[in-house]
Amino acid sequence: MDLGIRGRRAIVCASSKGLGRACAVALANEGVHVTLTARGAEALSQTAAEIRKANPGVVVTEVVGDITTPEGREAALNACPEPDILITNAGGPPGGDFRNWTRDDWIKALDANMLTPIELIKATVDGMMVRKFGRIVNITSSAVKAPTSRDLSNGARAGLTGFIAGIARKTVVNNVTINSLLPGVFDTDRLREPDARAEAEKRRISIDELIAEYNKSIPAGRVGDPEEFGLFCAFLCGAKASFITGQNILLDGGAFPGTL
Ligand code: NAP
Repeated sequence: MDLGIRGRRAIVCASSKGLGRACAVALANEGVHVTLTARGAEALSQTAAEIRKANPGVVVTEVVGDITTPEGREAALNACPEPDILITNAGGPPGGDFRNWTRDDWIKALDANMLTPIELIKATVDGMMVRKFGRIVNITSSAVKAPTSRDLSNGARAGLTGFIAGIARKTVVNNVTINSLLPGVFDTDRLREPDARAEAEKRRISIDELIAEYNKSIPAGRVGDPEEFGLFCAFLCGAKASFITGQNILLDGGAFPGTL
């Protein structure tokens, strides 16, 4: 299916690895010029090179920086001042008990997972509305639908979700849609990083055993493949997806048990 977005420009935040990377790959495969961001230059440059090789007609721009800081956002916007597509994303906050979090911990989580997407939307949405095309997709979490053990994430992501629900209805008349994708468990580095390692160590099992447990607990019988996440994101950014806005779409292999 041709999504009708060849030649469009996208900022894909936090995209050297994982879900952000998968979104950038899927968009580039549709002929979208992509601006990628990440803090680490090495993985970013590797991802950019892979995308360029697979899509010689696509312009791939790398921006090294922390997207949760004003400087990081300014650098991304300078590299792509008039994006048609914005994918907001950043690392998630650590897990743990809310009793252990200070005000500074909360501000950091809110900055990363609520205020950064809001700042990026603020900087880009009016231009999109004037140009009569815009697709904004926020990568949030299944925590929006059913809280997880990550108290900081539950709070920060709910704040973003409430904000989006309001503005997504105001932009769509100008063909600017704003939606969020809610990942369940996907096979990215995050699955093997600190929180997972700590849980595995606490329970004296290996990371592979922990992942096998995830696989069993998901009705699909497996964790998600980032590629399927990226393809869904690209679809939402397509020219014909203009009637979908303000939605929070779970991609979780059936893990959420509710009827609605
Ligand atoms: P990942 O595989 O660890 O990749 C994270 C990517 O974001 C990397 O490219 C990383 O590069 C970049 N990044 C992180 N913090 C950044 C920052 N402050 N500024 C710029 N780039 C940054 O993570 P993921 O699994 O794709 O997760 C993406 C988001 O989805 C996270 O918010 C996560 O909490 C959420 N989520 C994921 C899952 C899942 O199962 N994977 C489930 C629910 C929610 P650098 O480190 O070099 O900056």
